[in-house]
Amino acid sequence: MGKYEENYKLSLENPQEFWANAARNIHWYHWYDKVLEIVDNHYRWFVGGCMNSCYNAIDLHVHSGHGDRKALIYDSPVTNTIKTYTYKELQTRIAKTAWILKLKGVKKGDTVLIYMPMIPESVIAMLACARIGAIHSVVFGGFGAHELAMRIEDCKPSMIITASCGIEVNKIIDYKEILDSAIKQSSHKVNAVLLWQRPQKHADTIPFRDIDWENLEMMAKEEPCTPVDSIDPLYILYTSGTTGKPKGVIRSNGGHCVAMKWSMDNIYGVKPGDVFLAASDVGWVVGHSYIVYAPLFSGCTTVLYEGKPVRTPDAGVFWRLVEQHKINVLFAAPTAFRAIKKEDSKGEMVKKYNMDSLRSIFVAGERCDTNTLKWIEKITKKPVIDHWWQTETGWAISGNPLGLETLKVKPGSATKPMPGFNLKVLDEDGNECKKGQLGNLVLKLPLPPACLLGIWQDDERYKRSYLNHYPGYYLTGDNGYIDEDGYVFVMGRMDGVINVAGHRISTGALEETISSHPSVAECAVVGIDDDFRGEIPLALIILKDGVKDKPELIKEGIVRLAIAEVGAFANLKIIGIVNKLPKTRSGKILRGTIRSIAEGKPYTKPSTIDDEQSLTHITEVLKGMGFPKTQS
Ligand code: AMP
Repeated sequence: MGKYEENYKLSLENPQEFWANAARNIHWYHWYDKVLEIVDNHYRWFVGGCMNSCYNAIDLHVHSGHGDRKALIYDSPVTNTIKTYTYKELQTRIAKTAWILKLKGVKKGDTVLIYMPMIPESVIAMLACARIGAIHSVVFGGFGAHELAMRIEDCKPSMIITASCGIEVNKIIDYKEILDSAIKQSSHKVNAVLLWQRPQKHADTIPFRDIDWENLEMMAKEEPCTPVDSIDPLYILYTSGTTGKPKGVIRSNGGHCVAMKWSMDNIYGVKPGDVFLAASDVGWVVGHSYIVYAPLFSGCTTVLYEGKPVRTPDAGVFWRLVEQHKINVLFAAPTAFRAIKKEDSKGEMVKKYNMDSLRSIFVAGERCDTNTLKWIEKITKKPVIDHWWQTETGWAISGNPLGLETLKVKPGSATKPMPGFNLKVLDEDGNECKKGQLGNLVLKLPLPPACLLGIWQDDERYKRSYLNHYPGYYLTGDNGYIDEDGYVFVMGRMDGVINVAGHRISTGALEETISSHPSVAECAVVGIDDDFRGEIPLALIILKDGVKDKPELIKEGIVRLAIAEVGAFANLKIIGIVNKLPKTRSGKILRGTIRSIAEGKPYTKPSTIDDEQSLTHITEVLKGMGFPKTQS
């Protein structure tokens, strides 16, 4: 039995023993009494244990003599800045900020909303909250006033921390103005706003409410860490559900710290001093877990990158970061690599940089189609690991545990379930699917540490969304299958399955095939209503730069490919060529919105949309193709 299998088996047979062993690797002020306690369907890890997440991330390393090690490298091509903080320097700034929070009345157990761009002060704000036992709720900086107001309303912060502005490519976003408008919209009134003024744009302040962070920090004292209970919430992170109201996923302190540390050692295979870049945003779960907490728990150097994969200044920026900061592990969404591939399909840029330090590349957030995965492997000559997880779990449900044992990579698969995740595939009646049969991906309870403790202020929704569908199991909301070798294939959300004349077809499977066409850079497939077959697939494709073939020829080629690779029953006939696809800022294609436009159904413009013009663009293309067929 390999190391992976040994660990996986033990984690399911005896989760208490498995996670108690992992808990030895973090700092506790007071050891826990019980490894796991289940109360009304809430899974509480390390009950009775007393620790502090900020202590584990920062002070522990300083106290162990590593205060001079680099903790954070801020690299911001949009402001032309590179700045490094050692663990000691970060400790001082966090401790002073924590002191300011306390001075302004923030207490242990209070919520603090953080609405910030990708600057070091975001990390400092999060850890300052953790230091005093306040619960942070970071709202992605790209959210507009209405979405922000909904989150303020729900988590009722005693303080909001913000910056004067965010910086996009050639654009300054006025964060403070958006925040002021959100506070006006919300019935919850905030007493204090801690403001970081960026030199690119100073914000107007409201007397007696807004506090100048930098000024106050100059005279602040250093606040020590407050011990908290393991099951006290560390943070709330909102994620979208099926309704317009976001769900506040609660993550507790102790279990999170244990699982984060375990994942760094065993999944990413990193050791103290390694340099880790997660090219995401602190407003998403990847940012929480792998920009902020996990690399610091592990004594690594985390790279905070304020820029894009392309255009800041070009498609070689990831490789420049690798060379300049000697990055060992790079983590990004597949969409980032598709953007790079579109501009530099031959991988010329990567040849300009020294990539020796880089050991592996991890991708997550959406399916990584075989074509993209192979392209990244080819141009970088590094192992590319697809791993699957969600806001609710906080870390990988399935992946390739490089720190334990490197499993064979099967392109298109997020490899195998990680220890602690008892993954099953069930059909609608709750029967286990056969190997290779598509079904709902579920996790047999209990979930491992770091997974959600509940939904903030809405226990009923927690149970309805995740636990009621199949009693005894957590519903991931994704569909997929496990093959003969135990490899996990995540094919899309449960609503990503389409039914064409009685055949269940995954849109992800069709996308995989279309992406393998040599002219296609990216594509999205949605099901649209069809009087005859129930549903039929509609594909929107983006061509690679420089493709000269006639569009009709390319479409014919794709139809033939789909017949050959998926089967004629998939009935892929409708293909549109577009310049861009509507996506969320975290890179997820808005398939539901595409479907609504194609079917002429009313839709609400998603608040997370990255480029609003993409909606107008695809509406025009679809109109040219005769959609919607009937106006409702
Ligand atoms: P979020 O909670 O926003 O991070 O989104 C989580 C969802 O993204 C999952 O439920 C999946 O639908 C999708 N996802 C994340 N990682 C992967 C992956 N490696 N393969 C396929 N889908 C993924």
